[in-house]
Amino acid sequence: MNALLLILDGVGGLRSNKGTALEEANKPNIDELAREGATGLMHVIGRGIVPGSDTGHLAIFGYEPKKYYHGRGPFEALGAKLELKHGDIAFRANFARVEKGIVVDRRAGRIETSEAKKLEPLINGIEIDGVRVIFKSTTEHRGVLVLRGEHLSPDVSDTDPHKTGVPPLKAKALSDEAEFTANIINKLSQTIAERLEGKKANYLLLRGAGRMHKAPSFYEKYGLKAAAIAGGALYKGVARYVGMDVLEVEGATGDKHSNFKAKFEKAKEISEDYDFVFLHVKATDSFGHDGDLEGKKSIIEKIDKLIPIIKDYFDLIVITGDHSTPCIYKEHSGHPVPLLAYGKYVRKDETMKFDEFEAMKGGLGHFKGLELMDMILNWLKKQKKFGS
Ligand SMILES: [Zn+2]
Repeated sequence: MNALLLILDGVGGLRSNKGTALEEANKPNIDELAREGATGLMHVIGRGIVPGSDTGHLAIFGYEPKKYYHGRGPFEALGAKLELKHGDIAFRANFARVEKGIVVDRRAGRIETSEAKKLEPLINGIEIDGVRVIFKSTTEHRGVLVLRGEHLSPDVSDTDPHKTGVPPLKAKALSDEAEFTANIINKLSQTIAERLEGKKANYLLLRGAGRMHKAPSFYEKYGLKAAAIAGGALYKGVARYVGMDVLEVEGATGDKHSNFKAKFEKAKEISEDYDFVFLHVKATDSFGHDGDLEGKKSIIEKIDKLIPIIKDYFDLIVITGDHSTPCIYKEHSGHPVPLLAYGKYVRKDETMKFDEFEAMKGGLGHFKGLELMDMILNWLKKQKKFGS
């Protein structure tokens, strides 16, 4: 028995003068799964809690975010294929251009990936006060930076001012234990600026500090061999964090132009090798942030056309989101997300289509994200008995 979990990022919506993207979209294949299966509403972290994409996915995978979430940095670093150790402090980094002490370009003139890659050895391997720096440049101006050593803390503020026309910020300690780390970051920023002097990208801005906190793997927790198909580094990172195999798919970019078909083909191709496949689509969320109902609807319609590729290759298909991103909200919201489950051991309900309002009547009722993996194990007939 195998399962496909399709996450349409930020898929939940609110009605305005029109219906939600799920209501407006023409999606016969997904609606058929709803008709033949069951639907309900998932409170991803808890009622009214607004999930981030990272914490939302952790909850869905059954990892209590309050315990396992220690900042975004480690997920980005894992997504960039860095090996992290328990206690490492990771940041998102971007090359910037600073002139006369002022940030004039936060992307260093949209530096090319190949050009940025050449700067990597100037930063990677620096040591300051016994702390080792690991740096990897990823795409264009972006990168990830890791501090490895004793007495480090993630409670430090960003050096990225998140705007131009101001100086880069000094890292501040947000707790007493973080003084040492803030000091390291400020010395490091200086050292990096010296090493990059005369280059187009002459500064490295840091943000999103987080501490790597080892977690039991998906296989240890559930006995399921799991794979992830995703474009964005954050999602790949969360999947690697829980020990999934992250598969590379040509053209899976994590944006609106991602090769969705290739991702579905990949899921089909590996369906016999894995018990659990997590397939992530980001663009629904991006259009939600843009307030673009037509765009969000068009992605749902594109995905719907791909459902036949995988339909007969999985015993259980679950479709949901990691949070709502209503177009009239342009942000993540705490509204529950609709979820549909289709499979041999799913108790069919009366719902006829897949959207937020039909799901209110669904047989799965209201449940929390942290309950989903138990429900999935039960639908796969792999749940262990509690008691005798
Ligand atoms: Zn998300």
